[in-house]
Amino acid sequence: MRVNEFQPHTIKVIGFDADDTLWVNEPYYRETEEKFCSLLAEYAGAGEINRRLYEVEMNNMELYGYGTKAFMLSLIETAIQVSDGRITPAAISEIIQMGKAQIALKNSLLPGVTDVLDRLSERYRLIVATKGDLLDQERKLKNSGISGYFHHIEIMTDKREDNYRKLLGHLDINAGEFLMVGNSLRSDVIPVVNLGGYAIHIPFHITWQHETVDEGELPEGRYISVDSIHEVSALMGLGQ
Ligand SMILES: [Mg+2]
Repeated sequence: MRVNEFQPHTIKVIGFDADDTLWVNEPYYRETEEKFCSLLAEYAGAGEINRRLYEVEMNNMELYGYGTKAFMLSLIETAIQVSDGRITPAAISEIIQMGKAQIALKNSLLPGVTDVLDRLSERYRLIVATKGDLLDQERKLKNSGISGYFHHIEIMTDKREDNYRKLLGHLDINAGEFLMVGNSLRSDVIPVVNLGGYAIHIPFHITWQHETVDEGELPEGRYISVDSIHEVSALMGLGQ
């Protein structure tokens, strides 16, 4: 869709995804995965370990949900599997330390975020709509220094149509009054557009395998992809 065809004139509330939209997230997971593969190098190659880890994570998704703590548990389970039970307590302890170190990382805002929130907050009600662990996301938001821009923080167990329908109910708005901004077509764009809302997709350079979609699943219209968050304020009629 061309920029001049995207005309979300009815928007009252703009929802922002958090991870890899407001701040860096996925690269930290990749770094921990690399360390994890090195730690288990004597048992299997990195490709095999990553494949097994993803399987374990998907199997655990319904039980644990998203976030670093869920990730840590899946790392430990994968380590036991890949090593056929030979993984040492010292190595498990190291995995736990890797996870704790990842949780403790100070999140860094992506360029332009504060400026765009500042402009948009003049005209729109802004919210955060994110998946992940409650404690994790609350901590990151607090450390980010941008929580003052948001009227509401929604930490969702998942980002499917049903979850968004409930969110719109809480916000007391119609889908056509809602715009979602995020890096995931699967979680931030498709369900919102399917409900009749609008979305702005800002791809991040790394996407978790779980968030990728086939081109055929993409909805027609009502959303636009842009290169950076800088473009969002202009699209919403507030200059660059
Ligand atoms: Mg995201």
